[in-house]
Amino acid sequence: MKIIAGNWKMNGSRSALKEMVSGLQSLETNHTIILCVPYTMLGLESGRINIGAQDVSAHTHGAYTGEVSAQMIADTGAKYVIVGHSERRGYHNETHNTVRNKASAALSNGLIPIICVGETMEEKQAGKTMAVIESGVRESIPSDVNTPIIIAYEPRWAIGAGLTPTDAEIADAHALIAKTLSEMGLSGTPILYGASVKGSNAAEIMSIPNVDGVLVGGASLKCDDFIPIITSVK
Ligand code: PEP
Repeated sequence: MKIIAGNWKMNGSRSALKEMVSGLQSLETNHTIILCVPYTMLGLESGRINIGAQDVSAHTHGAYTGEVSAQMIADTGAKYVIVGHSERRGYHNETHNTVRNKASAALSNGLIPIICVGETMEEKQAGKTMAVIESGVRESIPSDVNTPIIIAYEPRWAIGAGLTPTDAEIADAHALIAKTLSEMGLSGTPILYGASVKGSNAAEIMSIPNVDGVLVGGASLKCDDFIPIITSVK
């Protein structure tokens, strides 16, 4: 059984989510399906889809205009939240420290954080991929985890670019993440691969060792693109 998670980013609408919910309703699958949607779509009827947010405040409450707390997200019935997505790290200068605090806030409120790590093109070209991944995992995960978390390996240079690493590169990255998690006492934590996943490459990617599922951006927006990813693996 795999985890197939979608990230709608700043796309979609409440009616688009309704369409996705009804489109997936009759699908026969044992996989866990998650959609991380904009805040405005939280709390809607979601059928078999588990709903998540795409970011969360590190603060509990108070004078933080525009922010949304983990408690507020949990209050909508959402179960997951992405933290440390490449676009948050890039456009909002989020550091491992920020990401760790956000993951902590999520965990304190019963949410499962999907913690993203991955290297930029500059880091890849400098031969730092493995070091960046390992420090991302070690520094973005709170020290006191005792409820489930999910890690997503998302090579930042490949997101939305139609590019993917080779199978061997994905295998090496996921093996390193699994080893690091085990050293941190977190063996068994699911590790998703994300960046340019589509129906035509999903099965091959999910057959790579230590790939427990995928995090899908663009191809999660429409049933016609998302369903083939879900049905591509048993
Ligand atoms: C993402 O933004 O998490 C992502 C994986 O995007 P895409 O699938 O579009 O590359």
